Amino acid sequence: MLGKLAKELRMLGYDTVYFRGEGAYSLIKLAREEGRVILTRSTQLTPKRHEDCIVRIVEDRASSQLRELIRANVIRLDEEVPFSRCLPCNMLLHKIPRDEAEGEVPDFIFYQQKEFFRCPLCLRVYWQGSHQSHMKKRIEELFSKPAASGFPR
Ligand SMILES: [Zn+2]
Repeated sequence: MLGKLAKELRMLGYDTVYFRGEGAYSLIKLAREEGRVILTRSTQLTPKRHEDCIVRIVEDRASSQLRELIRANVIRLDEEVPFSRCLPCNMLLHKIPRDEAEGEVPDFIFYQQKEFFRCPLCLRVYWQGSHQSHMKKRIEELFSKPAASGFPR
């Protein structure tokens, strides 16, 4: 149910696993083993030990859910490294020599872009495209602090 949020978190660079297994216990066990925060819409899922960290998501839209996570101190601006992960795989992308991307991306992209990145798992090639500049704007909006007002003269 939180697939869109998972993708947005990866876009922001967060190590995010979308749990496809069954049962609350196996979810909690995985989170304990890998030191993860559980994001859920369920009201049934409750912490069993003090180390269990479960955050219930109330909002419906992914952008509001991200704000929810900022308010709950689950994500912070200073730890976020946008565009560092493969969206389907959650793997960290590696920068590749520019030549390596030739033939693997559309020609106009190759001539337009200076830097290319590859997912070590699915081998998909990424670049800073228009989609990403859109995301960048979105991120700036999300994390922007309210402007100071009423400055004393
Ligand atoms: Zn991948």
